[in-house]
Amino acid sequence: MLVLGLETSCDETGVALYDSDRGLLSDALYSQIELHKEFGGVVPELASRDHVRKIIPLIEEVLAEADCCRDDIDAIAYTSGPGLSGALMVGACVGRSMAMAMGVPAIGVHHMEGHLLAPMLEESPPSFPFIALLVSGGHTQLIEVEGIGEYTLLGESLDDAAGEAFDKAAKMLGLDYPGGPNIAKLAVDGNGDRFKFPRPMTTKPGLDFSFSGLKTFTLNTVAAHRDAEGQVEKQIKADIADAFELAVVDTLALKCKRAIKQTGLKTLVVAGGVSANRRLRERLERVLASQGGKAFYARPEYCTDNGAMIAYAGAQRLVAGQQEPLAVTIKPRWPLEQLPAVSAKDEL
Ligand code: ATP
Ligand code: MG
Ligand code: FE
Repeated sequence: MLVLGLETSCDETGVALYDSDRGLLSDALYSQIELHKEFGGVVPELASRDHVRKIIPLIEEVLAEADCCRDDIDAIAYTSGPGLSGALMVGACVGRSMAMAMGVPAIGVHHMEGHLLAPMLEESPPSFPFIALLVSGGHTQLIEVEGIGEYTLLGESLDDAAGEAFDKAAKMLGLDYPGGPNIAKLAVDGNGDRFKFPRPMTTKPGLDFSFSGLKTFTLNTVAAHRDAEGQVEKQIKADIADAFELAVVDTLALKCKRAIKQTGLKTLVVAGGVSANRRLRERLERVLASQGGKAFYARPEYCTDNGAMIAYAGAQRLVAGQQEPLAVTIKPRWPLEQLPAVSAKDEL
């Protein structure tokens, strides 16, 4: 089954073609980072308009790259939530109406299920059951995964997401969006030992997170090191970036260790934009190795938003016979646990 996948939940237009027999055939991504730069955050109305502008050319691009034509498409998967309403509406309208016109099934995909399953596109994918650490711009969750659509929430952030904390801390250090990769780059030259950043909620039992305190701590540390002109020395900025990154990695690693102990599962899947972080990957690899387990992730470009993960997740559900009615439905807020299961026998 050849599935066209469309991702338009935020500020990236992602389109891909995934074949249930041949694997991923092509994918294309357009990022709106430059468009939103001057506003210091994603402007929803501008995001929607830019998705409208880019989605059809990207569909043409992936078809050409895979040497396919429109008639070869057997089904269409699009992100139907969670995300920005107007942005979701673009992918949902294009996907649902294209499928209707072509007489093929369509499926609305949960964006976080897309992230969670992205590591399945790699050469040696994880097998169920496993623990998933979802760390992205809008989510920080630990989930027990028994199969596709069989999710139990173990813990989540009570305030900011890990990626959001990276982005806000970066802004305080005068770095551009997205903050994660920029903090990681700056931290290479830093000495984090200079500061004692907190490891939030690690002394309390449980698997929930909180990252807003770390953000305040960063703000106060930056303020305390401003010179007479209000500038912060380059080396001090690098030291703060290093201390911040280390605090996030320590906190996430400690909770993962706890989740392993609690569930007895020794396979960890790390997904979402923050899972591209090299330090986090190295640390979690060590944690899992010490427990006799293994950590899995997607290649860095499939950690952040992309069409490939939506085509893949959609294909799993379409092959199992699931599909959308004709109405165009988006779910800007949509708990992952509400998803129906895809029974093991129906999986690819
Ligand atoms: P959600 O998936 O929750 O709806 P989103 O789609 O905006 O949110 P993603 O695209 O998955 O989030 O990830 C973007 C986030 O990942 C940003 O916050 C960014 O700073 C962070 N990020 C990307 N690369 C890195 C990195 N190397 N280190 C740390 N954080 C990173
Ligand atoms: Mg994004
Ligand atoms: Fe995302």
